[in-house]
Amino acid sequence: MDEGTFQLCRASAFGLAVVLAFALQRLTPHARLRGSWSVNGGLWLLNAVVVGLVCGACAFSVADWATREHIGILNWTTAPTWMAMASAIVMLDLVSYAWHRANHRIGVLWRFHQVHHSDPTFTASTGLRFHPGELLLSLPIRLGAVILLGAPAAAVLAFEVAFTFANLIEHGDIDLPQRSERMLGRVFVTPALHRRHHTRLGPARDTNFGTIFSGWDQVLGTFTPSDSSAAVDTGLPGLSRVTLGDALALPMHIRQ
Ligand SMILES: [Zn+2]
Ligand SMILES: [Zn+2]
Repeated sequence: MDEGTFQLCRASAFGLAVVLAFALQRLTPHARLRGSWSVNGGLWLLNAVVVGLVCGACAFSVADWATREHIGILNWTTAPTWMAMASAIVMLDLVSYAWHRANHRIGVLWRFHQVHHSDPTFTASTGLRFHPGELLLSLPIRLGAVILLGAPAAAVLAFEVAFTFANLIEHGDIDLPQRSERMLGRVFVTPALHRRHHTRLGPARDTNFGTIFSGWDQVLGTFTPSDSSAAVDTGLPGLSRVTLGDALALPMHIRQ
């Protein structure tokens, strides 16, 4: 796979995930919320430029380099492609869980991550709401994990596609039928589980850190069950209206 194919597949998956998440919000809404588009769309655009300039296809370059140099666990084994793909999705999701948990535990990381939580509404566009500082800080962790794992570029792409779909759908203002949500929630992070993570105040905010699989929270003791019938007050205390400028300046202030 070359860099152009990697970028094209990633961008197409993003487009499809956006369409699917917004279709589900339309078809089966939870609270018929309107997203904070001016902030979330603005941050997404800014991140596309900033991260694109700093390291647009770094994940591809790093994976390709590790394969050529024979570096990392998967490059030291003779795992078939499907196993490399599955391991990359599972292990990179674990790294994402650990990073997210650290963002809630370490003050300087929370300063940036609180921007994601500052959305007073909870819709698919919340999945695009990240401070550029958080994304830049996460870059060495994510790239280091790709090298350590020795994940081939195709496996990194498989992870990024799965991550993109999970991220946009779990932030959706979506109600799944309670039975299927509970069953699905045993394996995957559902909108109700992640909505609980966006609780305005209270211990539930420091639970449900997963993005693709809910198993990490269940095994590591940070799981709070939830389903579509739960009404969750989302956002950050004392912040009901946030402009794009406020969101960018938020890391200078520490909030509960
Ligand atoms: Zn969080
Ligand atoms: Zn979130």
